[in-house]
Amino acid sequence: MRNKQKHRGSCLCGAVRFSFTGTLDDAYFCHCVQCRKNYGMHGAFVGVARDALVIGKTKTLRTYKSSRSTARTFCETCGSPILWDRKGYENIYVCLGLLDGSVTVPKVTNIHTKDKGAYYDLG
Ligand SMILES: [Zn+2]
Ligand SMILES: [Zn+2]
Repeated sequence: MRNKQKHRGSCLCGAVRFSFTGTLDDAYFCHCVQCRKNYGMHGAFVGVARDALVIGKTKTLRTYKSSRSTARTFCETCGSPILWDRKGYENIYVCLGLLDGSVTVPKVTNIHTKDKGAYYDLG
């Protein structure tokens, strides 16, 4: 088990700030069409225990239900996607690009690769 660390992040405009203590072990790149439309590229998320995530101000947080079981949270001021949340999942997923500092993840799992855009390689 890796050591838990404190991580911080914010949206592009800084209105939404959050932190959590945990590992970055549960990381995904999601290539589904919904993620590509939402992020312009594949989604990049890390799973965080729900009770470990602390969100500062929530005034500009908005949620879009992209399916019956999935909600995507974003900042209404700058449009940064922030959370991906699926009913029944143990973790909530934070967009990796929002984390501050030089963030490295031990391992990334690519999912929904059949829907991947033809304009990039999996690498
Ligand atoms: Zn913002
Ligand atoms: Zn996706």
